[in-house]
Amino acid sequence: MNGTEFTLESFSDDLGPAKVVHLYDPSCGLRAIVVIDNVACGPSIGGVRMATDVSTQEVFRLARAMTMKNAAAGLAHGGGKSGILADPKHCDKQRLIRAFAKTIRNLSEYIPGPDMGTDETCMAWIQDEIGRAVGLPRVLGGIPLDEIGATGFGLSACAEVATEFCGLKLDGATIAIEGFGNVGRHAARYLAQKGAVLVAASDTGGTIYDPSGIDVEELTRVKQQSGSVTAYGRGHKLSNQEIFTQPCDIIIPAARPDCIHQDNVGNIKAKLILQGANIPATPEAERVLHERGILNVPDFICNAGGVICAAVEYHGGSEKDAFEVIQEKIARNSHAVLTRAHREEIQPRKAAVELARQRVKSAMEFRAET
Ligand code: NAD
Repeated sequence: MNGTEFTLESFSDDLGPAKVVHLYDPSCGLRAIVVIDNVACGPSIGGVRMATDVSTQEVFRLARAMTMKNAAAGLAHGGGKSGILADPKHCDKQRLIRAFAKTIRNLSEYIPGPDMGTDETCMAWIQDEIGRAVGLPRVLGGIPLDEIGATGFGLSACAEVATEFCGLKLDGATIAIEGFGNVGRHAARYLAQKGAVLVAASDTGGTIYDPSGIDVEELTRVKQQSGSVTAYGRGHKLSNQEIFTQPCDIIIPAARPDCIHQDNVGNIKAKLILQGANIPATPEAERVLHERGILNVPDFICNAGGVICAAVEYHGGSEKDAFEVIQEKIARNSHAVLTRAHREEIQPRKAAVELARQRVKSAMEFRAET
């Protein structure tokens, strides 16, 4: 993050945020932030992030990304997000999540879903408390979006379209995935099914790089058993920063914000970036990528698979429906955005923001003044 403190004066604009709520429950140590950015298209859907360092500014930026993502995907939902300040691996998670659920009971225009540090089980606890959550386990009638890899599947749908815009063939393209978690490993799996070759993957423990190709199923097993991709038997072990500068065709950042920045953007060798994580590149880095002719598909276009799946679940659709809707919406929106960016010689993010903004503004015209 750039360190600027969040204030409404400096961050609010014609779209939002509608609500910024700080939550504190001293009985269990809950400290959390909820930002409901815009609800013109419908009640906001957005993930619950659990991390020790999540800030109001980060939650606001993520909520705005959800407004853009949900509008760009043509969903009947606005954008929101929340953050719980805790270490997901070292806390009484159930207690914190249940306390969080109770405190958002009356924020009915916010529908929580899973995000970094939370999962289907957490959503089941929230559902149990307040009857309002998406990304639920199958046994509760949900479509477990992380288990089926909805976002990773959407990234592969986007890759099929985006490769055509940068002279790559997906079959045989080499891929590096920063953050081999729910998004990253499923993206690797679906892309491998289309003939792409994983050559690098990272997590908090570091990077594994093997130009001859990494077996995705084996890497998934290794990570599950040992906790890190670096325990993979072959290839070179590198620091987690080095993943961005290895030779490959496609990079998928799928971990934290701002990991592509002014200090590493100049050394990126890939032709295509698919933003699996939310806001993984700084605005300055995105400008440099554009100048260098590296196609950079923005987060809210290519990582919308999870929220599309959540919306299908919320409206009673099946898992099969979810895959069909993700494929159709992401392919269509990617094509629309990249065609416009190419025609007008603008950054894909600018084209995508214009498309999403147009939809939100049109929806706002139907709202009564308060
Ligand atoms: P996750 O917790 O399952 O996985 C994150 C992975 O990133 C982990 O393997 C972790 O070790 C790794 N990681 C963390 N910091 C790292 C670093 N500095 N360098 C390298 N690896 C690092 O989380 P997730 O659900 O896969 O989400 C990842 C990102 O994708 C987040 O930005 C999230 O907001 C975004 N996202 C997730 C979904 C979804 O469906 N889960 C949908 C859209 C966007």
